[in-house]
Amino acid sequence: MLSVVFAIFAPLWIPMDYLLLESEDIGVIAFYRFSLFAAMITLLFINNVRKRNLQHSLFCLTLLIAFPAIFYTASLFQLVHSNTSLIGYSFIPFLLVAILSVFPLTILESVVLGACLILTLLYNDFFAGTLFSLEGFKDLWLISTLLIIALWANQAQLHMLLRLYRQATRDPLTGLLNRRVMMERLSELTEHWESNSTRPPVSVLMLDLDRFKRINDTHGHLTGDKVLQSFSQIMKEELRNSDILTRYGGEEFAAILPGTTIDNAMKAAERIRARCEQAWVTSKDNEPVRFTTSIGAGELKVGEDVSEVLQRVDNSLYEAKKTGRNKVIQAC
Ligand code: GH3
Ligand code: MG
Ligand code: MG
Repeated sequence: MLSVVFAIFAPLWIPMDYLLLESEDIGVIAFYRFSLFAAMITLLFINNVRKRNLQHSLFCLTLLIAFPAIFYTASLFQLVHSNTSLIGYSFIPFLLVAILSVFPLTILESVVLGACLILTLLYNDFFAGTLFSLEGFKDLWLISTLLIIALWANQAQLHMLLRLYRQATRDPLTGLLNRRVMMERLSELTEHWESNSTRPPVSVLMLDLDRFKRINDTHGHLTGDKVLQSFSQIMKEELRNSDILTRYGGEEFAAILPGTTIDNAMKAAERIRARCEQAWVTSKDNEPVRFTTSIGAGELKVGEDVSEVLQRVDNSLYEAKKTGRNKVIQAC
């Protein structure tokens, strides 16, 4: 959107240049303006053609700031020796700082981009001979103040987005990721996996608390919630940080273990099962409440999609329930 705005407004100022600038500058500046137009349209395509990720977005944002900054510098070099007033040019660095405040950047990102803008301003002031003048100091003062405001706006946005992201992706009771995120991650992993010739192993666990309804009925929902929290803590402690742990729904959990063979996934599942046997929470009457879990485990196979692997693992979980609970069964 912003690159389109720049692309449209850059050539629109040419009639104003025609009125304000000296005749030998008009052609050169018009060329610069069309170059900015072309650069901004190119940016539009760069931004949309490739699959987006954070690095690509940051790259595009840097270009969005860099292209007008280069245009500003080139125009000043052209106009600095002529006797015209720079109407329509001197506000460009301030406009770019305002644009910075639109994006939810981290402190480091805003400081780096902001420092580049200040350096552009200083460089141009130096060549225009206004660096050590009151005029130059006024610009520097203004741009620094605007940068601090932009930095604050970036931080406020970033925090708000992170909070919303957390609320949308995590289960509030256990802090684990929710089912939607797990399905997305597993789809990404399987897609990536199919196109990867080395195909590192990916294993999946499905875990369900045994006779959980009975715990709720006997000790109340709050105790049931404590069991869910204690169980997710055990999962966090027994699995790796890089594993994707989710509350699949109710008292069912799932874990994706990238880079883990089925043998190691079975060992991890067995550790979780054994830890649950040893664990307890206290009920409202201060009684210890124990719990156990049944687990199905499977490894992703070539040509298999997300629903197929989940179905296989779910079948083995069902098998564990049917054959007595508190056990781990490997999917075939
Ligand atoms: P099974 O061993 O066959 O899995 O039996 P189960 O009792 O664990 O399974 P069932 O599906 O019959 O019951 C699951 C219970 O989990 C029912 C539901 O009330 C409870 N539950 C689901 N979500 C929550 C929650 O967030 N907190 C609490 N306390 N209970 C929950
Ligand atoms: Mg259950
Ligand atoms: Mg269940």
